[in-house]
Amino acid sequence: MCGIIGYVGSNDSVPFLLQGLQKLEYRGYDSAGVAICTDNGLNVIKKKGRLENLVQEIECLNLPKSNLGIGHTRWATHGSPGDENSHPQLSDSKNIAVVHNGIIENYIVLKEFLIKKGKKFTSDTDTEVIAQLIDYMYNGNIFSSVINAVNKLEGSFALGIICRSDPGKIIAVKKDSPLIIGCGENENYIASDIPAVLSKTNRVYRLKECEIAVITQESIKLYDFEGSGLDFSFETVDLDSSCAEKNGYEHFMLKEIMEQPDVIKKTVFPRIKENQVVFENFDLPKEYFEKLKKIYIVACGSAYHVGCSGKYVIEKLTGIPVEVDLASEFRYRSPIVDNNTLVITISQSGETADTLAALREAKKYNAKVLSIVNVAGSPIANESDYVFYTQAGPEIAVATTKAYSAQLCLIYLLALYLSKILAKIDEQGYINYLSDIILIPEKIKEIFEGIKNIRSLAQDFFRISDAFFIGRNLDYAACMEGSLKLKEISYVHSESYAAGELKHGTISLIEDNTLVIAVATQSSLIDKIVSNIREVKARGAKVIAITTHANFYKISEVSDHVIPIPKLSDIFMASLSVIPLQLFSYCLALLRECDIDKPRNLAKSVTVE
Ligand code: GLU
Repeated sequence: MCGIIGYVGSNDSVPFLLQGLQKLEYRGYDSAGVAICTDNGLNVIKKKGRLENLVQEIECLNLPKSNLGIGHTRWATHGSPGDENSHPQLSDSKNIAVVHNGIIENYIVLKEFLIKKGKKFTSDTDTEVIAQLIDYMYNGNIFSSVINAVNKLEGSFALGIICRSDPGKIIAVKKDSPLIIGCGENENYIASDIPAVLSKTNRVYRLKECEIAVITQESIKLYDFEGSGLDFSFETVDLDSSCAEKNGYEHFMLKEIMEQPDVIKKTVFPRIKENQVVFENFDLPKEYFEKLKKIYIVACGSAYHVGCSGKYVIEKLTGIPVEVDLASEFRYRSPIVDNNTLVITISQSGETADTLAALREAKKYNAKVLSIVNVAGSPIANESDYVFYTQAGPEIAVATTKAYSAQLCLIYLLALYLSKILAKIDEQGYINYLSDIILIPEKIKEIFEGIKNIRSLAQDFFRISDAFFIGRNLDYAACMEGSLKLKEISYVHSESYAAGELKHGTISLIEDNTLVIAVATQSSLIDKIVSNIREVKARGAKVIAITTHANFYKISEVSDHVIPIPKLSDIFMASLSVIPLQLFSYCLALLRECDIDKPRNLAKSVTVE
């Protein structure tokens, strides 16, 4: 959510700022802007809408060269997404420019105070308060003025700040929103995420909570919020700039769908040694698991759907009750959690604000927290007792695919690991399940071979305005994810329903030619779903069914179209059924000419509540 970029060095900052913002576009935004420091003061250019608008504006302006600048893609939280609310925000003296990711919770009090002191506000944002407050406290030294100001701020804020009368430096601040520093050759950078600086350097420092950095062309110094100096070192990240390129694919989403077999291999295979699931740095003793009363899985969006599938798998393999909750609900509902509850939080970015808050809530009750995240060093990873990293690499498309699949596989491994510790499985059953997990990547590749069929189905249905996804048990969990994918990227209204539940209300919405996508992979429930398909067919629905080759004939007798997929143990079928659902949404969105990688109103990492 929102992208921050900054440059200080000896070259012109604008080309770097613009290409950095382009790399951060995936995070989601509705306006973009830059501020550069020149001999004539701070020059701010900002534009509503796509980054392209800002680029065109800058091309027309013939800006003076400047070797200090900050840039921003804004995802509006306070004030409409218009030009005046875009960042950078300037103080009224035009001495301070600020880019901000997050929310200032006490901005109204501060704004009233600053207005009384004579400050003139020109935007509706909470961010403008920061620029004005620093300006109000300005004592000739931007660093100490920022320290004084940030101690008055409540909420979440990653900040990039430049000052006209104390030039040559960027002040970077981090609290509850991500920010990194890149160390270059005779120049330095800040950014919300590593891919934005990879074209220049792979030496980075991820700012930790409540740290402030003073960054000049030659030096980077780190402090806490009291102004005391801190030691730090750079890490060398093992990524190259091509990880954020499309590599010939039309969209990142398609590239990431296709990367799923590899990502699963990278996530799963190193954790299987000599036919055993092995988790490094997960040293909870057997007695802890034996006393475990409940597992809580807490997440948002697709990660929540991983939890919904996980519930079936973990309960089946371990007998431990699993409750799944949306992080935004869990954090405010006094959850029943104690030291005999294991809380699992799942987040691709590791910075999802609601999930982070839920994690902190769980810790208040002394629960152990295990997190499944994709980004090393992210706040959720840092604050958890245990972390399982998905090895998905950077996921750029806003709609998740490969991270979802990797998260799901880690849940399988965890379920199997627990079943063994708790002696809930015999050796042969354990080996059989493990062999099935190992097969997932190859089975997904087989599904890719049917992409032509899926494309032609999308061609038949791309003008629909509604769709219903039905399935039972694990198929229902897969439906939730399929339905979300369709909504996210193709803007088609869709609902996912437990197939047996449809007749308790929603079946009233089924009429001639309503699209129903039925997921039918659970062997013991095939006859049940066949009946549910008949129910919707009787009311005029057009049915696309996803089922295993073994059940192809049974399902095709009642459906209009069938997408066959390979077979694995029922408990792992969500990893396969999701693939045609992802591809169908992708193909439909393509035909509807939607902005697939950057769907409207959405942000990749949701760092605000
Ligand atoms: N709350 C700020 C605003 O609405 C920053 C939003 C963002 O993180 O992009 O301007």
